[in-house]
Formats: sequence, structure tokens, C-alpha cells
Amino acid sequence: MYTALYARQSIDRDNSVSIETQLEYCKGALRPDEQQYGVRCFSDRGYSGKNTERPDFQRLMKEVRRGRVRKIIVYKLDRISRSIVDFVDMLRDFRRYNVSFSSSQEGFDTGSAYGEMICKILMVFAEFERESIVNRVRDAFEKRSDMGLYTGGRQVYGYRLCETVIHGIKTKYLVPEENEAEQVRYIFDAYSQPSVTLRTLQAELLANNIVPLRGADWTTGKLGSMLRNPVYARADADIYSYFEQKGTRIVGGLESFSGRHNVQLYGRTVHDASLDDWSDMKIVLLESEGLVDSETWLKCQHKLEQNRQIGNSLSNRTSWLSGKLVCSLCGHTMTTVRSGSRRYFMCSGRTNKKTCKGIKPTIYVSDMEDMMDGYISEKLKNIRGKNKDRSAEDTARLNELKLKLKSAEQKLDSVAEAVMNSGAVSELISVLNEKALKLTEEKRHYLSAIEVLERASSAETTDLSKKWDKAAFAEKRSVCSILVKAVSLYENGDAEIIWNI
Ligand SMILES: [Zn+2]
Repeated sequence: MYTALYARQSIDRDNSVSIETQLEYCKGALRPDEQQYGVRCFSDRGYSGKNTERPDFQRLMKEVRRGRVRKIIVYKLDRISRSIVDFVDMLRDFRRYNVSFSSSQEGFDTGSAYGEMICKILMVFAEFERESIVNRVRDAFEKRSDMGLYTGGRQVYGYRLCETVIHGIKTKYLVPEENEAEQVRYIFDAYSQPSVTLRTLQAELLANNIVPLRGADWTTGKLGSMLRNPVYARADADIYSYFEQKGTRIVGGLESFSGRHNVQLYGRTVHDASLDDWSDMKIVLLESEGLVDSETWLKCQHKLEQNRQIGNSLSNRTSWLSGKLVCSLCGHTMTTVRSGSRRYFMCSGRTNKKTCKGIKPTIYVSDMEDMMDGYISEKLKNIRGKNKDRSAEDTARLNELKLKLKSAEQKLDSVAEAVMNSGAVSELISVLNEKALKLTEEKRHYLSAIEVLERASSAETTDLSKKWDKAAFAEKRSVCSILVKAVSLYENGDAEIIWNI
């Protein structure tokens, strides 16, 4: 039985601790009563800690399983493993073969009451550190690999698909085709305006003689799938959040969403992307450039999603609230019915299907519109418009802050998970609390910095509610469709507004 000292160094660098120094530290951590046992050194030079495929580490584990090792000492935890999964497996093996384990720098020992648990937690944090290293390595790799290259095969309007050979692999990348790209930008800009629908957009393109430079005429279907394609967006923190919320798997580290490159959606054709379940989809960051800023792209998604919800009822032009009012009794939308000179809302479950008894009080369209007018005006006062003239520097800074905020939030989630898994061990909870407090502090810092930047650039924007007061029917319908998810009507005539924002 002997004590094993284990050291690992991935590459010789000025700032990394050499194997020899690591072993010195390990020797220093030997307790006097341990000096009587033999000591053997194991070391892996030029191996990373991300897996266990290291010759001397494997040799050490064999010794452990033969029952020859009584204790293992490392300089730092991340020397023996950088993977929490591997590490937990090791701990299990150590316990089975009565091997105690200690780390000289972090100063703990599995022999102590909660040492093992603290090991686990420290590894969670080690994983955080690793994330950033992995991302940096991946970024460097991506530049040379085909990961950031377009693999969709199909031609994308606005881009030329150029063939290239990288590392002996034939692959393709997207290069903007300026004439087409200009049309794409025009289409996104136009559709992001509240009053423009796919149909009026189609008409506007025709009127301005903007014809497709390849393929047949624009159809609303074609325009819709173009507007839905994330390949056009300059991917930044907001785009990341959008897909994260959808439950889409995202390939490419958070910090790569710098607002320069675009993404490709995998898993189904973009045309079907109107389906609600995105969990089987994957977003991959490309090396090429997006054509449209994220704000415009997201505005368009919002509109497309709203239109889908309203569906055909948009053709009902009798109220700008059409399609938004829902009968709470049966869930059907309310349609307008004429009675003399006035129009009122009635449950379509009653008018069409005769399956609902409908809502008792008569709800006149004009009354409902007046009421909603007020609520929406109120709502718009609280929405700060964004200044288009924000400097490029500020935009980049803002995105950087949003990414940092997101990263802090993700770390907080991991800490919360660690708390839940740690049981009621008070020492652990206090370690975690400290980490959580630090992260929360960090979060607050980013949030306030973001607010300062956003406020600075929105200082001169006009009050949206003033615009609302002068809005025409079509504009009101658009604004309402963006702001309001639904208005639920109850039997007694009460209404409940479900906002989108
Ligand atoms: Zn009903």
C-alpha cells in the first residue's frame, strides 16, 4: 500500500505549473503519519483533463483496482479531471477500494466529513472554468473546420454558395450576393413595419418593380419562408435568447453570438418552421454574415407568429380587434355580427357550430375598441422605443453585456441545481450561497449597465402612445396583434387581456 501523487500538464506554457512543481506541492501535503508509507509518482505530460485517456492515469486506476493505493494526492482538482462525470466515477471507484483523495491547493480531503461532497461541488465550478476554455478552443477550431460553413445544400436567396475544400473535405460557404441581398434587406425592413402584411408586401414589391433576380414571382408563401429564415439575421444575444426560448439546441458558444455572423437552422426545412415544437431543431452558427439586424428579424418573427395565431380571421376587417377576442366558455374566437347600425361580438361557437350558448351581455365593437384603445395606449407609454442611431460601439457593448448576463444566469442555474443535489449539508450550502450571491451581484451589474446603455440611446425617441392615438385601422390592427395575445371574455361580460409583451 502506498500513496500516489498524480500530476498532469497539458502543454508547456510559461503560466502553467510544471509537473515537477505539482509533485512538490503534493509531497508537501503528506501528513507526518503518512510518511511511513511508500510514495509513488504518476504523471501525464501533454494530456488534457477533459477525458481519462491518459496513460499514467490509467496505470494509476489499475493500481487502485488492485488494492495497492491507500491515498491519492493531486496539486489541484482539475489535474485529475476536468469532467464532473469522470470525477464522480473516480470518487465511486476510490470509495470502493478504500482510497482517500486530497488536493493540496483546494485544501480538502475525502477523509473529512463532507470532503467528498465538496469535491463534487468544486468540480461543478471547475466545469464553469472549463466551459470558457472549451469555447475558446472551439472558436479557433471552427475557423478551420467546416462547422461554420453552410451545409444546407439548397441555394439561399441573397447569397452565392461557394465551394471550397477545407482539411481535404469538400464543403460550401455563403457569400452575400449584393443585388439580391439588397432586396432581402428591403423585404425585411418593409415587413417589420406594423401596417405591412405579406399581401401588401407582395403588392409593394410589384409596384416598385422589385422582381426576384432568380426564380419565379414573389408569392406570400415565398416571402413568408424567406422572412422566417434565421440565415438572414445577424446573430447576437437576442437571437440566442429567441432560439433558447423555443427550446432549440444551439451549437456555438454564447460569446460567439457577436452580432456579425448568421445561423443555420437544421432539423426540418425552414418552410415548416411554423410548427410550434422546436426541440428537435438545431441552430448552428455559420462563418458567413447575416444581412439583417436582429431587431428587424425578430420583429418580423413576432408578426409572422401573430398572424398565424389569428389565421384567417385577419380577413375580417370589421374590427381591429378581430381574432383577438376569445369566448371563455368554449374557447372559440368572437366574430362580429351586425345589428342595425351597430356591430357586436358574438362567439363563433354559437354562430357557426351552435355548440356554445354564448356570452350574455351584448358586447358592442365600438365599446370594446374604446376600452382596448385606452389599455393599449397605456401599455405603449411603458414601451421604450429603440433609437436606430445607436453607435456601432454601443451596439457591440450592449450585446457583450447581454451575453455576459446570460452566462451569469446560466451559471446561477447550475448553482441552483448543485444546491438541490447537495442535500442539507450546511457547509456546502454556504459555499454555494457565496457563489450565488456573487453571480447575482454580477447579474445586477450587467442589468444596470444594459439599462444605462438602452436608456441613453432611447432618450430622443418619440412616445409610441402618441403615434397610437393617430393610428389608422390597419396600424391599430398590427399594433394590437403584436401587443395582445388574446382578450378572454367571461359570461358576465368581464374581459381579461393577455398581453404578448
Ligand atoms: Zn363560446
